[in-house]
Amino acid sequence: MEEIKKTGRCLCGNIRFEAQGVPIWVVHCHCQSCRRNTGSAVATFIGYHSEQVRYIQGERSFFESSPGVQRGFCAQCGTPLSYEGKYCPGEIHLYLCTFDEPESFLPQRHVFYKDHLPWFELHDDLPRFNAFGAGKKPDSFGPKNQSTIEK
Ligand SMILES: [Zn+2]
Ligand SMILES: [Zn+2]
Repeated sequence: MEEIKKTGRCLCGNIRFEAQGVPIWVVHCHCQSCRRNTGSAVATFIGYHSEQVRYIQGERSFFESSPGVQRGFCAQCGTPLSYEGKYCPGEIHLYLCTFDEPESFLPQRHVFYKDHLPWFELHDDLPRFNAFGAGKKPDSFGPKNQSTIEK
């Protein structure tokens, strides 16, 4: 089997990383803290097992955004780079658009969808979860997929 290796970097290029193998998940997060952290309407994350990710250049700085949650970033250019929480030991979540080929990953669901901005209209058919929703049934689906919602 061909080995999957993806590379990425912060805006200034001071910090570079690589990720090996298939990610655990790819999600759009609409929670307020991710929005504020990125200054964007949504943060698209890729979850990996910690051992899949290697920093090959530079050192991240860290900010504890809520108790037990460390958000890594580049102190030189400010790019958000990683999310590690005590509630998900052994995982590291990376920001999809810091990868060199963000188009090569396909988002699988929306999380914290209840917090999404009302003017941000989403017409994909991905499942929407009000919280993180791992292992649970989606709370809703996109408009292309309305018929599949169980009443
Ligand atoms: Zn940087
Ligand atoms: Zn979030």
